[in-house]
Amino acid sequence: MNTLRRAPVPAQKLLIDGAWQDGSGTPFAVTSPIDGSRLTTLEAATEADVERAVAAARRAFDSGVWSRAAPAARKKVLHAIADRIEAEALDLAVLGVRDNGTELAMALKAEPGSAAGTFRYYAEALDKVNGEIAPTAPDVLGLVHRMPVGVVGAIVPWNFPLMIGAWKLAPALAMGNSVVLKPAETASLSLLRLAQICADCGLPEGVLNVVTGAGAETGSALALSMGVDVLAFTGSGVTGRRLLEASARSNLKRVYLELGGKSPNVVFADAPDLREAAKVSAAGIFRNSGQVCVAGSRLLVQASVHDEFLALLKAEAEALRVGDPLAEGTQIGAVNSEAQLARVLSFMEGAGEIVTGGARILENTGGTYMAPTIVAGVGAQDRLFQEEVFGPVLAVTPFSDEAEAVRLANATDFGLAAAVWTSDLSRAHRMVAAIRAGVVHVNTYGGADNTVPLGGVGQSGNGHDKSLHALQKYVDLRTAWIKL
Ligand code: NAD
Repeated sequence: MNTLRRAPVPAQKLLIDGAWQDGSGTPFAVTSPIDGSRLTTLEAATEADVERAVAAARRAFDSGVWSRAAPAARKKVLHAIADRIEAEALDLAVLGVRDNGTELAMALKAEPGSAAGTFRYYAEALDKVNGEIAPTAPDVLGLVHRMPVGVVGAIVPWNFPLMIGAWKLAPALAMGNSVVLKPAETASLSLLRLAQICADCGLPEGVLNVVTGAGAETGSALALSMGVDVLAFTGSGVTGRRLLEASARSNLKRVYLELGGKSPNVVFADAPDLREAAKVSAAGIFRNSGQVCVAGSRLLVQASVHDEFLALLKAEAEALRVGDPLAEGTQIGAVNSEAQLARVLSFMEGAGEIVTGGARILENTGGTYMAPTIVAGVGAQDRLFQEEVFGPVLAVTPFSDEAEAVRLANATDFGLAAAVWTSDLSRAHRMVAAIRAGVVHVNTYGGADNTVPLGGVGQSGNGHDKSLHALQKYVDLRTAWIKL
């Protein structure tokens, strides 16, 4: 571990048309949130670089080397990629943690662990996607083909780069598309390594290109490119809006948005086990320092058990070991960057009753750490109730009955995730139906796998990653109407 955590990281390049190359912009430094040390530099891709990557992706697509390859050949490459991710899991996870600060135990599971599973899932799925024969009159044959869309632009955030990157790459590649990937400025390293793995495993040159750089320049150029057919995005609502504008201003490319949340975690007095609910709820908001899109960041708790549950939750939060994400026993790592920590801390000003936490900790390490934080007495109009913090901050609001719980659960613009804790089966089903969210957990929080979709409603987005449904984002339907 000590060798891995100190391994020098060479200056990173752009991957365009199968070659690692310099960008035209000024390279910028990558700082580790663990201790503020400088890890390496990233290239800043300009519009011209992005256009070269898009052109390479288009050439590869048009050549048919991947887009018209036999499904069995694509399957073999995607399985090989999964094998390599598994074989290099620790290296990939440590590299990613040095870059983005996630606690190693979680990173191992959620990053290489999940990414390998995703490549395997779509490797297995790709030759089960059939066309259709329409029930036409007997003198014609109506065939519906599923065609790859062409060039997919994928823009991903910093919280789980490998996992989310794989959610875009694996189904897009499975369906025969070429991809230009734009990782986040503060979490590019593990995805650049993944790109090399893809090349080593036989993905043809130009099928996957990676451009690093600032969102406003590199990301924006990709969003505006006339050569991109579909844009698959995970990130904030602010950026999501810009991407829709970019589509409207350029070529009307399809834009899939997986955005943020302010997910309600609803605890009824008849929860099967309040102690277990407190433990899982604490993990549901504090893991990865709350930088999880589906984090249960609003606790709605029935008034009759409010004080008891809050005491249990406070004990759980204070028992969590926050610190160096690569150190043994650490349960919560670093906040991704100084900028993100400053944003999270801004929510503490006038936040109400801080039950625990509320401040930066371990500043002497040079890293960006924050204590798990619980704020009680948060009202539905408060900023902490309405805005995504994307940090280790839980807002607590009491409710009296089921109707009020539903009203509060749905009282934000978001609709990504939720949870309900109850022993009443009928109530559980009523709540699943009543809460506006892409996923509603019952008596647990988080933990879904590749077999089920993840996507939001409302201002949490419009697309779905994972499951067979995600394949639809990366195909166009083409009808063949044949006179017999
Ligand atoms: P962000 O929107 O700031 O950045 C995401 C990506 O978009 C980065 O690669 C960034 O460089 C790029 N970008 C920024 N500005 C751009 C622009 N003008 N044009 C094109 N690209 C641009 O988000 P973030 O802070 O990196 O990530 C956190 C957000 O992501 C949170 O809101 C979180 O909830 C959300 N998220 C959602 C899911 C989901 O599945 N729904 C999963 C993880 C994270």
